[in-house]
Amino acid sequence: MRGYSFEMLRGMGPVSTALWGLSTGRLPWGDGHHAAYADVWSRTGGVLAICEDLPELHNQVTLDPVLTDSNGIPAPKIQYRLSENSQRMLAHGTARGEEVLRAAGAAWTRVESPLRVAGWHLMGTARMGTDPERSVVNEWGRSHDVRNLFVIDGSIFVTAAAVNPTCTIQALALYVADTIKKNLSNLFE
Ligand SMILES: Cc1cc2nc3c(=O)[nH]c(=O)nc-3n(C[C@H](O)[C@H](O)[C@H](O)COP(=O)(O)OP(=O)(O)OC[C@H]3O[C@@H](n4cnc5c(N)ncnc54)[C@H](O)[C@@H]3O)c2cc1C
Repeated sequence: MRGYSFEMLRGMGPVSTALWGLSTGRLPWGDGHHAAYADVWSRTGGVLAICEDLPELHNQVTLDPVLTDSNGIPAPKIQYRLSENSQRMLAHGTARGEEVLRAAGAAWTRVESPLRVAGWHLMGTARMGTDPERSVVNEWGRSHDVRNLFVIDGSIFVTAAAVNPTCTIQALALYVADTIKKNLSNLFE
């Protein structure tokens, strides 16, 4: 269900290439090191698949019953596992990504999935919608339950989207601010 976008990545700088080479075993120490480095330095590229992780009940942010911050405020407790749908999307995306790289002439490919260093886009914890039973804020970011509370960030998305979200978060911020301004005279009615 749904899908993913591709992000094409250029090669890495010299230090990143060295660190990546060591961590993946692509750059051995010893006699062959320089030749192996020359083989990959400035000659690597990547394809990143950003999947549209859907809202799923088993993924939750709740308040930790024990852990608090220095002010005694409960810490967020995050429960997350990849659903079968997300795993299948990742598998499909990485297979197509390898195909693209091979078609472009790649001599060696390697799949890292999920990409732990990139992490996840944590979104949708206060999702937008017209139905108070199924969403936290309305179509312009106002809480269904608390009329003078507006939420303007990545949490009002309804899925994790299949793209980097920051530009859309900024657009939503402008949209919600404009709507507040337009409705200023009767904002809390
Ligand atoms: C590893 C990684 C790489 C990413 N790369 C990209 C990318 O290349 N492009 C892209 O578009 N997106 C990227 N993202 C996603 C993007 O960073 C987030 O989606 C975006 O920053 C979310 O914005 P936000 O305003 O919702 O939340 P945040 O940016 O997390 O802002 C929330 C703010 O609230 C503050 N806060 C929390 N609790 C309190 C409190 N009690 N009182 C006061 N302040 C509080 C926090 O300190 C924080 O400053 C990446 C995310 C990760 C984790």
